[in-house]
Amino acid sequence: MAGTWRVQAHALRLVVLAVGVFGLSEAGGAGTDAVAAVPPGAHLVSASDRVTASPEMALGVHLRLLRAGPQRHSLRPEGAGGPMDWGRRPDPAPDVVLAAPVPAHAPVGTEIRLSFSEPMEPGSVERSFRVAPAIDGRLQWADATTVVFRPSAPLAFHTTYQVNVVGMGTVHAQLATVGRFAFTTAGRPPSVAVPFTLTFDDCGTETAIRTILDVLADRGLHAIFFPTGQCRDQYPWLIPTLLAAGHQVCNHTYSHPVLPRLSSAAVASEIQRGVSAGCNLFRPPYGALDKGGRIAGIAASLGYRIQLWDVDTRDWAGTPADVMDAMIRARGGVVLFHMHGVHTVEALRAL
Ligand SMILES: [Zn+2]
Repeated sequence: MAGTWRVQAHALRLVVLAVGVFGLSEAGGAGTDAVAAVPPGAHLVSASDRVTASPEMALGVHLRLLRAGPQRHSLRPEGAGGPMDWGRRPDPAPDVVLAAPVPAHAPVGTEIRLSFSEPMEPGSVERSFRVAPAIDGRLQWADATTVVFRPSAPLAFHTTYQVNVVGMGTVHAQLATVGRFAFTTAGRPPSVAVPFTLTFDDCGTETAIRTILDVLADRGLHAIFFPTGQCRDQYPWLIPTLLAAGHQVCNHTYSHPVLPRLSSAAVASEIQRGVSAGCNLFRPPYGALDKGGRIAGIAASLGYRIQLWDVDTRDWAGTPADVMDAMIRARGGVVLFHMHGVHTVEALRAL
């Protein structure tokens, strides 16, 4: 599942010295493949007249085709001496990025925003803009370099959409850009009649944690995480990743001891070496507090208040997913899960 966490869009971009690529018909809005809109016989500089069955393949034959990192979504010709010798370094063609939505777990109410590196000839972009599966909507220019497609209805849940565009810059009118992007919408949100807050304690394998994060993102859920300080130290990526995903990250001590057995100084040390990430909630391991309020007092002196739970799923002990979901639906409130739960991910998926 870790793979799905990575950026899924392999946006390709062909830098084209294009003559005639924009002799496109006016027909067609969203729905067909932009690259396929290149008419048979489109004449490309230094291209032969042979046109293969796939226009995209044809472009690939005649043009330098390079994969780029996810940040730029761009393909640029290499210097002279490559498979295609460009001679003098060509003027830079316009760049295009998918400014919105994010590649994965996009909200179904999203708009599609493309950002170009220079002002574009509007008609070239409008004629070629395609989304597949097809969706109805309006394409409008926010400014000379930003075009926004606003769907007329929410997108489908859990669906991958392809966005293709061909555009011609106004600075160097002979230079065209082809942008191909993909994004996947989030899944259906949970159907639970009562308010609930999910919390995840302790630590887990990297795969387990990333799978939980993926499912939460897919269901559009934010949660409160209580990792131990040891977990933070084991996974330096953990806290930044949780925060970047919009979750709260709170304190669960450093090493998960039974606090009532410790001296006050040791309790304070455990809390202070625990996670501090902008959250004032403290969850004692095992929910163990002493009758005199000593631990709560120490936590308060360090700026924390105690946060226990309403629903104890005992997911660590193997509670079946449907049982845990029924517990949540019956009561709601603060739900205790763990990053090492046995059927936790199944419960989240079915919620
Ligand atoms: Zn714990």
